[in-house]
Amino acid sequence: MNFLSGLTRLLIPAPCLLCRMPTLSSDGLCPQCDAVWGDLMTSGGRCPVCAIRVPEPGMICADCIRHPRAFDRTVAGLDFDAPARALIHRLKFQRDTAVMAALLRPMTEAIETQYPQSAAAQPPVDWPDVLLPMPIHARRRRERGFNQARLMADWLGRRYGLPVHGKVVRRVTMSDPQSMLDAAARRKSLRGAFAVVGALPAHVAIVDDVMTTGSTTDSLARVLKRVGVVRVTVWVAARTPRPGA
Ligand SMILES: [Zn+2]
Ligand SMILES: [Zn+2]
Repeated sequence: MNFLSGLTRLLIPAPCLLCRMPTLSSDGLCPQCDAVWGDLMTSGGRCPVCAIRVPEPGMICADCIRHPRAFDRTVAGLDFDAPARALIHRLKFQRDTAVMAALLRPMTEAIETQYPQSAAAQPPVDWPDVLLPMPIHARRRRERGFNQARLMADWLGRRYGLPVHGKVVRRVTMSDPQSMLDAAARRKSLRGAFAVVGALPAHVAIVDDVMTTGSTTDSLARVLKRVGVVRVTVWVAARTPRPGA
């Protein structure tokens, strides 16, 4: 009975997560969309600090040189534009965790390429000690019922055997609609936005769905370093491209 129901589930096509065409693939993307998805993730270099696209791999972008960040390294799977936006919205606003495997595949490929494993038992060089989902304010969490960054961190934690510290940092202010503010106003609105309420190890990886300008992440990283975290890595599903890029 169980065997049969499992078999039925495998053989009944489900609509592709992106184009709605029926497909049998395990992560929900039809072969056509999967090919597009593959092209999106395999192109070009990103700034090692903030993961914005740069002409040469490994080149630190002008923004990160001009305004040094409190975080040390960012790994991003995709640029935040269609179709990444479509999957992130389904996760964020509909709690549709069926998108998780497809959405996080570019990110895990980037992680696994950028942290080559030397010996099976050893963690890779620069590997974080814990995952820290980007906290959302308690009121927003109540409205939405969940924190999408927490869902992502739990998924990644299971994949890599990393502990997830979901309650060590609290978001204590509701952020203003970020896009309405200029950079200086945004920094001011984020001052005092986070409170650390527990112990953290030396190397923390912040997990988030999207990095927009990086200012929220920077504000959190600053707070983490103030309480003794030595290194802050950021793992994001998607990075917002530079305007006009
Ligand atoms: Zn499709
Ligand atoms: Zn940068």
